[in-house]
Amino acid sequence: MAEDRKVVIVTGIPGVGKTTVINTAVQMVRDEHNEEILILNIGTEMFEIASERGLIKDRDELRKMTTAKQREVQRLAGEAIAQKAKTARVIVDTHTLIQTKNGFLIGLPEWVSNAIQPKTVVLVEADPEKIAGRRTTDETRTRDAQLTDEIDTHQRMCRAAAVSVGTITGATVRIIKNREGKVEEAASELASTLME
Ligand code: ATP
Ligand code: MG
Repeated sequence: MAEDRKVVIVTGIPGVGKTTVINTAVQMVRDEHNEEILILNIGTEMFEIASERGLIKDRDELRKMTTAKQREVQRLAGEAIAQKAKTARVIVDTHTLIQTKNGFLIGLPEWVSNAIQPKTVVLVEADPEKIAGRRTTDETRTRDAQLTDEIDTHQRMCRAAAVSVGTITGATVRIIKNREGKVEEAASELASTLME
């Protein structure tokens, strides 16, 4: 049976290189297959919803809102994404776990996962030391500092969260390593999943 699901969720911990790998893969698909992929970001949708309501001014303030507010904004963002993902080939760039002061908020709870119905969840991973380094050298964002063993734990929990989405929706789960200086390799794996 032909694949009728159009969404690939790309996830992984902050600073692992999701956005970099996605942008490279989308360019590859454009060059090689003449296809456009729509990139949606749950964090961006949440930021737009929260800032329209005057709740926050900066994207990195999102994870500092109360849990109840984050959940409410997340629900609206999930619905907006599901609506936009009805027609085009789509990548959803998102986090599976968001560190809040009240523990991890699950980025893809059942109602968001089921609304989106992804064909695949791609988990971008890298060595914890490299992730720590990328976070400090990237001046475009304000990411929280974390020790490498915390990064390792966070990354393992992301695997569990990605598998949960697969369990709920029937999506496949694909781990892609984003090796230092090898974005193109990771991007080419993502491009193959997009065009499968
Ligand atoms: P966030 O979840 O916070 O949005 P992200 O996973 O999208 O983070 P990026 O913004 O894509 O991460 O990348 C973080 C930093 O790491 C950037 O400065 C980027 O240039 C760098 N980077 C990404 N991939 C690699 C790689 N393979 N080798 C070296 N540096 C990389
Ligand atoms: Mg990003």
